[in-house]
Amino acid sequence: MKGRTLLSHAGRNPAKTCGTVNMPVYRASTVIAPSLAEYEGRQDKGLDEMCYGAMGTTTYYALAEAMTRLEHGAGSVITSSGLSACTMAILPFVSAGDHMLVTDSVYGPTRRFCETVLKRFGVETTYYAPGIGADIEKLFRPETRLVFTEAPGSLTFEMEDIPAVAEAARRYGCLTVMDNTWASPLFFRALEKGVDISVQAATKYIGGHSDLVLGVITARTRELYVRLKECMIALGETTSPDDCYLALRGLRSLAVRMRAQQESALTIASWLEKRPEVSRVLYPPLASDPGHALWQRDFTGAGALFGVELKSESAQAVADMVDHYRYFAIGASWGGFESLVTVNRPERSVRPWQGRGTLLRYSIGLEDTEDLISDLEEGFERLGKA
Ligand SMILES: *Cc1c(COP(=O)(O)O)cnc(C)c1O
Repeated sequence: MKGRTLLSHAGRNPAKTCGTVNMPVYRASTVIAPSLAEYEGRQDKGLDEMCYGAMGTTTYYALAEAMTRLEHGAGSVITSSGLSACTMAILPFVSAGDHMLVTDSVYGPTRRFCETVLKRFGVETTYYAPGIGADIEKLFRPETRLVFTEAPGSLTFEMEDIPAVAEAARRYGCLTVMDNTWASPLFFRALEKGVDISVQAATKYIGGHSDLVLGVITARTRELYVRLKECMIALGETTSPDDCYLALRGLRSLAVRMRAQQESALTIASWLEKRPEVSRVLYPPLASDPGHALWQRDFTGAGALFGVELKSESAQAVADMVDHYRYFAIGASWGGFESLVTVNRPERSVRPWQGRGTLLRYSIGLEDTEDLISDLEEGFERLGKA
C-alpha cells in the first residue's frame, strides 16, 4: 500500500463502527466490564485497547494505528500537544545523572524543558551544532543516554545528517529521538533512517486546519512503545477523543495539502531569493541552501515553512511591511491551510546565531501562489518607503 492509499484507509474499521466511513468520536471515562474476572484482567490492557478513558478511547487507538503505519513503526502514543510529544519522548528514557545531546536548532520550548525540568531532576544537556554529522561522536560520555534531533530546525532551517548522528548514537548505546514535524512522515521516513523515536506536532500538518493541539510519538520497537505508554499512564497524560478525530480527518488530506503547499512554498521562496530586500532564504529545497545536498539525499519532500533574512534591521520598517499584509497573518504555529508570518530571534548555545538583519518565518498555506506573491511584493514597497 502506497502512502496516499494508506492515508485514506488507515485507522478506519466500518465493520465494527456500524458502517460509518470515519471512526466515530468515542467519549468515555468509564468503560464497563462484563464480569469481575474481565475487570481484574485489565491490568495488562490500556497499552493497545480501550479500558479507561484517560488511557485513550477507540478514536485514540485508531489515530495511533494510522500513525504507526505511516511512520513504519511498532507503536504510537498520542499526547496532549506537540511539545508534550517532545518532552514525553525524552522522559521515559533518562534518569538523574544521565546526559543528553540536543541539537542547537531545537524547537525553543523543548530547550526550555531541558534547561528547567530536566536540569532540576539531574539530567544534563549538551547542545551540538546541527551540522556536526558523524563528529557528534566526540560529544558522547559514558552517561549519555539520548540524542534529540530536529531537521531542519523550525526557525533556522539547518539540515542535519540524521543517518550519521543516529548511527553514532547506536554505537554508543544511545537512543535517537527526532522532532520530524517539518517534513512529516510523508517526506522523511525517520525510523528507516536510523531514528528510534519520531515525534510529530500533529498541531501542524497532520491537523492542518489550525483548530487543534496534539502530538504523536512513534517508536521503532515494541519495547520502546511500551516504555512510552507506561510513562504516559504514570503521568496521567491524556488527549481528547474529539482532537484525535480531527487529526484522523486531517490525515486523509495530508498528502494533497502538503504537496500543494510545498509547490507554492518553493515558488515563493525562489521569488524571494531574487528580491533586493532579501539577504538570504533559509529553505533546504533551494539549490542555494547549505543543507540542500543532505535534504536531497534523505528527504522526499519539504514542509512549506522557511526563513527569510531581510537586509533591513529597522523594526519600524519591518512592522510597516508585516502589519499590513492582506493574506499573511501574524501568528505562532504553522502547517495550517492559511499563510502566516512571524519575526524570530533564534536562541543558541554552541555559538550565537550568525544571521544579520531581521529573520522572518513564513508558513505557506493553500491560497493562490500569485496572490501571496502580490501580498509580499506590496509589503516590500512599504518596507522601501519606511
Ligand atoms: C509547534 C512545534 C512543536 C510543538 O507543538 P505544539 O502542539 O504547539 O505544542 C514542536 N516542535 C516543532 C518543530 C514545532 O514547530
